[in-house]
Amino acid sequence: MVGVSGVRGVVGESLTPDVVMKYSSAFGMLCQSGKVVLGRDTRVSGEMVRAAVVCGLLSTGCEVIDLGICATPTVEIAVRELKANGGIIITASHNPIQWNALKFVGADGIFLSEREGRRLSDLVEKDKVKHGGWNKLGKLKFDQSWTEKHVKKVLRLSHINVQKIKKRKFRVVLDCVNGAGCVISPRFLRALGCKVIELNCKPDGNFAHDPEPIPRNLTSLCQAVKKNNADLGFANDPDVDRLAIVSEKGVPLGEEATLALATKFVLSRKPNSKVVANISTSRMLDDIAKEYNTRVYRTKVGEAHVARQLKKIRGVIGGEGNGGVILPELHYGRDALVGMALILQYLAESEKSASRLFSELPGYFMVKRKARLTRNFETNLVRLKRSFPRGRMNPLDGIRIDFEDSWLHIRKSNTEPLVRVIAEAKSKREASELVADGLRILSKS
Ligand code: MG
Repeated sequence: MVGVSGVRGVVGESLTPDVVMKYSSAFGMLCQSGKVVLGRDTRVSGEMVRAAVVCGLLSTGCEVIDLGICATPTVEIAVRELKANGGIIITASHNPIQWNALKFVGADGIFLSEREGRRLSDLVEKDKVKHGGWNKLGKLKFDQSWTEKHVKKVLRLSHINVQKIKKRKFRVVLDCVNGAGCVISPRFLRALGCKVIELNCKPDGNFAHDPEPIPRNLTSLCQAVKKNNADLGFANDPDVDRLAIVSEKGVPLGEEATLALATKFVLSRKPNSKVVANISTSRMLDDIAKEYNTRVYRTKVGEAHVARQLKKIRGVIGGEGNGGVILPELHYGRDALVGMALILQYLAESEKSASRLFSELPGYFMVKRKARLTRNFETNLVRLKRSFPRGRMNPLDGIRIDFEDSWLHIRKSNTEPLVRVIAEAKSKREASELVADGLRILSKS
């Protein structure tokens, strides 16, 4: 499946060496045979996909800088610092082990825009990919220094006081789900003086549980936090752009809490600064922003949309409710290291526990469901709007309907034939009812 975020598929079925090579060659052409940074997560299929990517890039004359197994944000940083023309990350992010994908990064270190993505697929679909002769081939270089550079850059962020965090000697259980986090997160936390208890930190790509860092997949992390009497638990997704937090009580705070806590901390130091989030991210952010005399700028769902808006309006922090924190001071990509650093600094400065900080966030409950995409989707969407005459409509991405202190958002998935139905309200019952209303109208034939 080709989407805004890249090319993804099941290895051996839709994602074959042939498809990977075609898209990599086309990307090489878009990069005008210049420098391209390459990285991958720990997936078992990573080595095979890497070989096809390298082949495509070399055949179009690119200088390939291969960072090896690394975090997605590490590649984004390297693209900008090396003044490369682009980057390719081989990862299917939080998708299960049979999946893999290519994520394409532009020269600005941000995922391709919809327009750039279309130019790329056009080259492949219209058979315009050209390979160079023997004297027009590219070169391959290995550079394993970027993980360390990434760590150092986060430690040097203006919001982070390494000494202050070190003093607290936090006990942290870290679940990397045997993904790319293993090569960077344990050493990063140790550099902050944490006592790290490693869980699933073998970078072999055998995901120990469903790799999406949502509460139901974090039961072993929750247990380990309690058993080890830890101050908190962190979970990284396989390519380290999403972060989930478990409190000292062994309770998962939910992926929406990550960005809310990070935003609250950053705004407490920089009030009146702009915040950007996608349209289905929690309203906690709006309440927090209000408290600090500012507002949240909403975008379509997708990291590239949030990143571009942050850049345009010079926002101070942004991201997505799935645990993706973007801090423009470092780069315009979701970065779990940035998230971990901000949370630890917040804990150190406030001298409060994770569960206490969480309890001080605005109280909302979110319910997320999926429905099959039916042929009546557009008609039902019109029906839906009519059935909520008192709601404020926002058609930015699907439809979001805002009420006094709740909202309902319905949109087609970018990656699957699904409709996502999300509601948030002051009580779980109210949120569930909103979702049920949405599902009922969407299923009409
Ligand atoms: Mg990810």
